Amino acid sequence: MNIILLGPPGAGKGTQARHLVETRGMIQLSTGDMLREARSSGTEMGKKVAAIMDAGKLVTDEIVIGLIEEKLTTEKGAGFIFDGFPRTLAQADALSALLTKLGQSLHTVIEMRVDDEALVERITARSTCGGCGEVYNDKTKPIPADGKCTNCGKENDFVRRADDNEESLRTRLMEYYKKTSPLIGYYYAKGDLRPVNGLADIKEVRASIAAILG
Ligand code: AMP
Repeated sequence: MNIILLGPPGAGKGTQARHLVETRGMIQLSTGDMLREARSSGTEMGKKVAAIMDAGKLVTDEIVIGLIEEKLTTEKGAGFIFDGFPRTLAQADALSALLTKLGQSLHTVIEMRVDDEALVERITARSTCGGCGEVYNDKTKPIPADGKCTNCGKENDFVRRADDNEESLRTRLMEYYKKTSPLIGYYYAKGDLRPVNGLADIKEVRASIAAILG
C-alpha cells in the first residue's frame, strides 16, 4: 500500500507518517529529510540546495525525483508513505510513472487540511528531537523539563529547523499554494483524494487516517 500525505508545511505530515511507520511497518519517504541529510553530510547536492531550502523555495523537480527513484528501488517494506513529495504536477507525473515501472500503484492521497493561522503558530514554535523526529511545540507540547525526549529518551538533542521562521514560512506557504495545491484537484480528479481535518488532536487525526487505510 503506497500513500501520499499531502498538505502545507506544519500540517502534521511527518508526525502522522512516523506513526504509520511504527504501527504498520511502512517506509516514510520524506524528501525534506533526505535533502536535510544531504546538507548536513556536505554532499555537492546538499550544498547546492541549502540556500534554496533556507529561503523556503522548492528545489528542482529533477533533484527530488532522483532521490525518490533511488529509495523506491532500494527500500523494501509494507508500502511507502510519501511525505512532502510530490510537490508539483511534474513530480506527481514522475511518481506515477515510477510506480508503474515498478509494478506498483498508489492507494490513497490523504489531504491534511489546516488553516494558515494555525500553521504559522505551529511552525514558529516547533522543535524536533534529533534522535527520533518527535515534534514538540513551545506552547502545546513543550520540551520536557528533564531534557529527555518522551519518545526515545535521548537527552538535550532538540533542533529547530533553519527554515522554521516566519519569513521563510511565508515563502513556503506561497510555494505551496502556487505549485503544490493544484495536486489537490489532480488527485481528486483521479478519485484518489481523501481529506482529513489536520487541526484535530493528533490521536483523532491518526484515527481518521486509520479509518481511511483500513
Ligand atoms: P519539508 O521538510 O517537507 O518541509 O521540506 C523542507 C524544504 O525542502 C522545502 O521547503 C523545499 O525547499 C525542500 N523540499 C522538500 N521536498 C521537496 C519537493 N518534493 N520538491 C521540492 N522541494 C522540496
